Amino acid sequence: MTRPLRTIALDLDGVFAEFNTPFVRVLRDAGASLRPWPKGHDPECWHWPQRYGATYEQEQAAWAAVAPTTFEGELFWMNLPLHRDVTSEVITALDWLATQHSLVFVTGRPSGAASATRRWIEHKLGLAHDQFEVIVTPEGRKAPILSAIGASVLVEDSLSQVRQCAIAPCRTYLVDRAYNQGECSSAIRVPSTLAALRQIEEL
Ligand SMILES: [Mg+2]
Repeated sequence: MTRPLRTIALDLDGVFAEFNTPFVRVLRDAGASLRPWPKGHDPECWHWPQRYGATYEQEQAAWAAVAPTTFEGELFWMNLPLHRDVTSEVITALDWLATQHSLVFVTGRPSGAASATRRWIEHKLGLAHDQFEVIVTPEGRKAPILSAIGASVLVEDSLSQVRQCAIAPCRTYLVDRAYNQGECSSAIRVPSTLAALRQIEEL
């Protein structure tokens, strides 16, 4: 087997997986009545109490309902839909990248979500179990992980994560979303997940 060229760190939610829509359902089940955002758009950010009027108790109840240590929680993570950006071209590009590079999905999902996440990637993104790694960092501290795994590329949708990861020696692609607008000189802003993967193919 040839040695992988690079270690590529990939975020999941907002890049490959659609987290918001199912989580909003869970929030509503917890009694939250959320202020609306434009149809067909992502909410501006995930600060449900601050921006959208959920109470902290409702948010806490929603997170408890998706705790991956419970059967229901595991199902939640395993059944997340693909992000609307994920076309068949994305799946093909990812499959090709996996033959060239070492792919590591680094996600801020709750602790215990790694196994459901692995199964989700195999099932939804079509990667074989030995084609990728998953690292769950519930503290949201990706920068030290990127350094530890020697990642030379990061694909991310969170502006705050990208800013925190600016200290890691990574070429960072920030996938453009409504909620991540703002100056970020440490990243290359790309219009879609596919555009990020295409640029990595060219490296
Ligand atoms: Mg994300």
